[in-house]
Amino acid sequence: MLALKEKDKVVAQMLLTSGTCARCILRFCGVTLQSPYGLPYKDLICELREFLALDIDEELRLENDTEADGPPNKKIRCEDTEEGSCDQRGGNAANLLQLDGNVSPPNDHSRTCNVCLGILQEFSDADFVKRHAAWLLVKQEMGKQGLSLQKEDIIQIKEAYKWITHPMFADALGVQVDPKSEFEVSVVYAHPETDGDCHFLATKCPDCFKATKNKLSVFTRMAVVKALEKIKEEDFLKQFPCLPSSPETRCDVLEIQCSHAAIFVAGRYNKYSRNLPQTPWIIDGERKMDSSVEELILEPLMAVFKADSFNFSSSGREDVDVRTLGKGRPFAVELVNPRKVKFTTKDIKEIQQEINHSSDKIKVRDLQVVTRDAVGHMKEGEEEKTKCYSALIWTEKFIQREDIAFLDDMKELKLDQKTPLRVLHRRPLAVRVRIIHTMRTEYVDEHHFRLYLKTQAGTYIKEFVHGDFGRTQPNIGSLMKTTADILQLDVESVDVDWPPPLND
Ligand code: ZN
Repeated sequence: MLALKEKDKVVAQMLLTSGTCARCILRFCGVTLQSPYGLPYKDLICELREFLALDIDEELRLENDTEADGPPNKKIRCEDTEEGSCDQRGGNAANLLQLDGNVSPPNDHSRTCNVCLGILQEFSDADFVKRHAAWLLVKQEMGKQGLSLQKEDIIQIKEAYKWITHPMFADALGVQVDPKSEFEVSVVYAHPETDGDCHFLATKCPDCFKATKNKLSVFTRMAVVKALEKIKEEDFLKQFPCLPSSPETRCDVLEIQCSHAAIFVAGRYNKYSRNLPQTPWIIDGERKMDSSVEELILEPLMAVFKADSFNFSSSGREDVDVRTLGKGRPFAVELVNPRKVKFTTKDIKEIQQEINHSSDKIKVRDLQVVTRDAVGHMKEGEEEKTKCYSALIWTEKFIQREDIAFLDDMKELKLDQKTPLRVLHRRPLAVRVRIIHTMRTEYVDEHHFRLYLKTQAGTYIKEFVHGDFGRTQPNIGSLMKTTADILQLDVESVDVDWPPPLND
């Protein structure tokens, strides 16, 4: 059964006559039952004609009743096409329509569908303009019957395509097709004959078609869809034939691409080197350091996941000369279009071990596969988080233990930090208020002490120590009434409780 209803008859007949394929007719009649789409085309067209014929047959009989006896001269029969005839399916000659002269030839597979351009005829995204034209006409026709139609009522060509092909794939591969699968096959069709069909839209809706770099044509799918939403129905009807005429050629498959949704891997890293940038450090195309945290982590990951590319992100970052100790800094990696996608906990642990054995400059823990959404947590509320540091500080003046003790008593010290000079080339100039929650000192010698700080995330520690030419107020130098500088800095902890710790 085709799942077509009585109300669909007029529309179906009109579309069929104009050269719309049977599957597109199902779409425009809003048939959501998937099985009819998958019928062999000849069966489908026969059933469709049967559905329409009964009605018209009825009308014809009524007309003919007024005439003399004998067979109706407007005989309805199945056309023999190279797809075979309907004869084996019921064989009754009254099945199909062949109305005299004034109606276009039977709609069979040899005529390219004026809506899907043959995609659904040969199993297989449509020309939006043509679809719009067909939709307007269907809407008008439904309007005449007092029925309303929304664009959403039409089955998307992509859906119909899936309904047809999924069972075929399932059969051929012996696997269940999961419509929510992360593995995606995209089929790109091209139809040069109707390429120019949408060009008139640019004269009606010029603001939808603005040239941008990187785009080969202004007639992108998004732009056309937007213009079609904007254009007045009357304007469209004036410019474009409804229904569209039958094209000469069918569209061709341009390419088939298989891809898998990205996989996200997260963990925490320690950095033990003061000569290792977080990401490759390249100035004017020239590499400044041999390696980076990113590369040390990604090399083993990419070797196993065989992804096309990756995106590395982390909860903040440290300077090249800053170590990250303690439990490490949370990071996440998006592996784009991975070729291997199934991993056990043990597999991931092995990758972690491989990363850790490959270098003594970094160490990774809690490596795990996470969801895309979870990665968002890492960046959430980053400003409110706290970070702990330890810094080795040099002072110009001689110091004794009692000279630094006052720092231990300072709580919730408020700083005004102007954007540091060293990052001014990439960050806007602003004054940010940051909080040093607590400090603890450890005397080293007459010119050195160690300072442990717990701060609001985003505090510039180096600038808090040396003052950045007065751009951070107050600073260690101003508080101690001397010149101070920072010799070493370590991140002791990044208080982001993600990803969850594992029992490594
Ligand atoms: Zn079609």
